[in-house]
Amino acid sequence: MRHLILILGDQLDRRSAAFDGLDPRQDVLWMAEVAHESTKVWSAKARIAVFLAAMRHFAAALREEGLNVDYHAFDATTPESIADPDADTNGGMATPPSTLEARLAVTLRAQRPERVILVEPGEWSVREALRGVLDAAGIDWEERPDRHFLCSHEQFAAHARGRRQLRMEFFYREMRQWHRVLLDAAGDPEGGQWNYDVDNRGRFGAGGPGALEPPLRRPRRFTPDAITRAVLEMVEARFATHPGALNEFDWPITRAQALEALADFIEHRLERFGLYQDAIWTGEPWLFHSRLSVALNLKLLDPREVIDAAERAWRAGRAPLAAVEGFIRQVLGWREYVRGVYWQSMPDYAQRNALQASAPLPAFYWTGDTDMACLRDAIGQTLRLGHAHHIQRLMVTGLYALLLGVEPRAVHEWYLAVYVDAVEWVEMPNTLGMSQYADGGTMASKPYVASGKYIQRMSNACAGCRYDPARATGPKACPFTTLYWDFLARHETTLRTNPRMAMQLRNLARLDAEARAAIAAQASGLRER
Ligand code: FAD
Ligand code: SF4
Repeated sequence: MRHLILILGDQLDRRSAAFDGLDPRQDVLWMAEVAHESTKVWSAKARIAVFLAAMRHFAAALREEGLNVDYHAFDATTPESIADPDADTNGGMATPPSTLEARLAVTLRAQRPERVILVEPGEWSVREALRGVLDAAGIDWEERPDRHFLCSHEQFAAHARGRRQLRMEFFYREMRQWHRVLLDAAGDPEGGQWNYDVDNRGRFGAGGPGALEPPLRRPRRFTPDAITRAVLEMVEARFATHPGALNEFDWPITRAQALEALADFIEHRLERFGLYQDAIWTGEPWLFHSRLSVALNLKLLDPREVIDAAERAWRAGRAPLAAVEGFIRQVLGWREYVRGVYWQSMPDYAQRNALQASAPLPAFYWTGDTDMACLRDAIGQTLRLGHAHHIQRLMVTGLYALLLGVEPRAVHEWYLAVYVDAVEWVEMPNTLGMSQYADGGTMASKPYVASGKYIQRMSNACAGCRYDPARATGPKACPFTTLYWDFLARHETTLRTNPRMAMQLRNLARLDAEARAAIAAQASGLRER
C-alpha cells in the first residue's frame, strides 16, 4: 500500500483535498465506525443513524467508482473494545476502547502504509488523538486543510488580529467582500444595506402557518433505502437505551439527496425564510427553515453551492432580498464565524463558565415530560426528529437552561447528543457562547435573556399552557418570567458593566425589595423541583 487515506464521518466530500493525487491502484481509503463516537455523549439514535447511514452510502459510492475502501463497520454485537491481533506490541492492552484512534492504531500496525493522508478533523480532541497515534506509529503522514470552509484559520486569525472584541456582523461583511456575495458592480451591498434583519422578525397570525397563502409545504422527505434500514435496525438494537426515536427518519444522507433537499428549499421555502426566521409554532418543526445543516455538516453539500443557489434565486426574482440576505448571513456569516471562534479558543473554550452556573440539567430535557408547553413542544420534537430550529434552541431550551443557571458543560453535552446536525465545532460555540454566555461575551455581545413574554410574542405555545407569561410569582407564574427576573437580580453586578443590558436592568430597578424577595423564593422553588 502506498497511501492510507482517512475519511472521517463528517468528511463525506468527494471533492475534498483527501482525494488529491489519489492512485486507485496503490492507495486505500480508510473509514471506521466506532462505538465511542456514539457513547462519549449519550447520542440520540437519529444522530447515530445519520452518521452511519451517510458513511455507508459514501463508501458504497466510492466502491462503485472502483476505489479500494477499507471500511470498518460495527453491528449490534460488536464489542465496546477493539480486538488487537498485535496485542503484545500494544503495551499489554489487548482490547483498547473502540475509539477512532485505537481503531486506526490497529490498522497501521497491520498494514504499514508508506504514508497516511487526512484532511484536518473538525473536532479538536479528534485532531489531537489522531495526530498522537500517527506520530507514535512512526509513519509519514500529511494533514491537509479542509477546503469545505470559506474562511481558513489564517483568514480568521487575520480578521481577529487587533480587535478587542469579535463581532459576527463585521466578519460577515468581510466575507461578503472576500467572496463577492450579494454585491453590486461597484462592490457595495445589493440594496444598499449589509443586513436586513429588521425585516426578518415576522410572526404568524392567530391561524398560524396553516392559514398562509400559498400554504406552508413540508420539506422533501427521503424514505430510507435498504442500507439505511439496516442501520436503523442496528441502532435500534445496539443503542436501545439511547434517547430519541427512528420511526420518522427521513434525512438526506447522500450527495444526490442533499442536492434535492437544497432545490426543494430554494423553490418552496426560501422566499419566506427571512420573514418567519424567528417565529415558533407548536407542532410545526420546519416552518420555512432549510433543513440543510445535516447535509452541510457531513460535507455532502458545499456552502458555496448553497449560497450561490440562494443568490441566483434573488437575481431571478424568485425570492426577496431580505430573505436571501438573511439566509446567506447564516451560512456565510454565522456558520463560518462559529468555526473561527471554536478553533481560535479551543481547548480551554470547553471549560468556560463565566456566570459560574452549577445547577444540574433538569431530567425532563431527556424526556420532554414537563408542564411548560413551549419546552414540551421543543424537547418532544427534538427527541422525535433530532431537530429543532434555531429560535427553539436559543430562546426555549437554551434560554431556560441559562435562566435556571445550569452548568454549561451539561448543556453542551445535551445539545451535542440530541441534534442530528450536532458536531462540536458548530455546537459548542452556539451553546456555550451564544446560548449560555459561558464565554463571557466572545460570541454574543450580551446574554440572550428574555421573559416568557418573548415566547408568547413569537409563538402560540403560551395559549395552551397552564402558566401565564405575564406573572413572575404565584401558582400561575411562568417559570421563564420568574427566572428571568431572578437571573437579572443574581447577575446584576456583572451585567451592569455591559451597556447593552442597561434597559433590562432599569426595569429590574423598578421592582421593590418585597417583589424581589418573592421572585427569589419562587425561583429557588423552581430550582429544587
Ligand atoms: P436554517 O435556519 O435554514 O439556516 C441555514 C443554515 O445556516 C443552517 O443549515 C446552518 O448551516 C447555518 N446556521 C444557521 N444558524 C447558525 C448558527 N447559529 N451557527 C452556525 N450555523 C448556522 N447548528 C448546527 O449545524 N449544528 C449544531 O450542533 C448546532 N447547535 C446549536 C446549538 C444551539 C444552542 C443553538 C442556539 C444553535 C445551534 N446550531 C447548530 C445553529 C442552528 O440552530 C442550526 O444550524 C439550524 O437550526 C439548523 O437548521 P436548518 O438547517 O433548517 O437551518
Ligand atoms: Fe412557556 Fe411560560 Fe409560555 Fe408556558 S407560559 S409556554 S412556560 S413561556
